[in-house]
Amino acid sequence: MKTVNIAIDGPAGAGKSTIAKMVSAEMGYIYVDTGAMYRAVALYLTENNIPDEDIEKYIGDVDVSLKFIDGVQRVYLGDRDVSELIRTPEISMAASRTSAIPAVRARLFDLQQKLARENNIIMDGRDIGTVVLPNADVKIFLTASAEERANRRYKELSEKPDCPPYEEILKDIIQRDYNDMNRETAPLKQAEDAVLVDTTELTLEQSAARITEIIKERI
Ligand code: C5P
Repeated sequence: MKTVNIAIDGPAGAGKSTIAKMVSAEMGYIYVDTGAMYRAVALYLTENNIPDEDIEKYIGDVDVSLKFIDGVQRVYLGDRDVSELIRTPEISMAASRTSAIPAVRARLFDLQQKLARENNIIMDGRDIGTVVLPNADVKIFLTASAEERANRRYKELSEKPDCPPYEEILKDIIQRDYNDMNRETAPLKQAEDAVLVDTTELTLEQSAARITEIIKERI
């Protein structure tokens, strides 16, 4: 049976994961956060002190898998749940760097396509509509200004101890945008047939409503 595949791409902090979670819960689809897979690979490489030039040699040893518990994604390295460990600024930057390496992308590509073949999904990332699921039923490119994205991240982190200053968060976001848009393999860009949604002036609820509307119009 053909599954329904919805691709949401966009830069860091545009609200992809929060919005995709809301929309997938409403539609009864599985939500796949591909950024978490790149983060899990980055965590493995960091913990094992593997330099970038040796990644190709060791990438076959990285065992990333996803489990869905009550529809919520958990990310595993082997049998270790690393879903929380991957959410540090250090791993964000490491993922941004190592995701440019073709061997890393090739490793995760098969896993992502298999998930899409077997489930009705909303998958978010940077290259889902352009590379991973070029035939997705609906493609959305979700964005917001860098300042607004940094502002949201700052608010999120300000509840935690050692929250970095706003300027540092903004600098990281700009650097990650640059890395993602300028790499040779699968750069971040809007697919020709994707619908652009700018959430700078929208609340989460308004953004989720807009995306649900776009999906319902098309499927
Ligand atoms: O989405 P998130 O910020 O968690 O992703 C972490 C990093 O993984 C991104 O900065 C990006 O470099 C990389 N990524 C990617 N392709 C995807 C998803 C994430 O290159 N499909």
